[in-house]
Amino acid sequence: MSEAFKSVMLFGAPGVGKGTQGKILGAIPGFYHTACGDLFRSIDRESELGRVFAQYSSRGELVPDDVTVRMWRSAIGDRVRDGFYTPDRDLLILDGIPRTVEQAGIMDGLIEVLAIVHLVCPNPEPMFERMRLRALKENRADDADPDVIRNRWSVYERETAPVLEHYDRGLILEIDALGTPAQVLRRVLEKLEPVHSAHFDVD
Ligand code: ADP
Repeated sequence: MSEAFKSVMLFGAPGVGKGTQGKILGAIPGFYHTACGDLFRSIDRESELGRVFAQYSSRGELVPDDVTVRMWRSAIGDRVRDGFYTPDRDLLILDGIPRTVEQAGIMDGLIEVLAIVHLVCPNPEPMFERMRLRALKENRADDADPDVIRNRWSVYERETAPVLEHYDRGLILEIDALGTPAQVLRRVLEKLEPVHSAHFDVD
């Protein structure tokens, strides 16, 4: 498989709703969604990679770039092999990757980004609350501690926000992330559906 994966990137701060929107979009035929954080969490905790992941995520830090992209590439390859993701048919929804400018550079040959859904929330407080509730529901150690949550925000601003500048501005779809999942989904689909349909028209 040498062709780049045609992709739609979900972009935004931790807790902004990337995972929620990604899961819903992933249920639509013609999209395939997999979150980088979920791929990491599915790794055996006793394995070497599992230990590396726990070491960084428990502090709200990012796993090193080369390790991350290698893990991601290999996990996507497994999904293709097992028939869950068919690159010729499905647009890949990137959720949580690339998360640094370095990762974006490494992934340039691996993905072709057709659109970037930028979920925007001007005020972080509602996001902190979402993450606190999610920690209770999903047993996530990284979201349970307010200091770790705050660290994840500053890591986002320092390392992830600049990723947008790596891509053509014309690809960015700005979406207001405040509201119910259904409201946000309506806004996302208004802008993303034409991209999705155009992909199918070409094939
Ligand atoms: P959220 O979606 O809530 O921001 P994730 O579930 O995506 O969080 O990620 C949890 C943890 O997994 C991160 O804090 C980080 O340690 C690690 N991680 C996930 N994606 C990446 C990535 N692209 N690069 C480096 N580390 C990552």
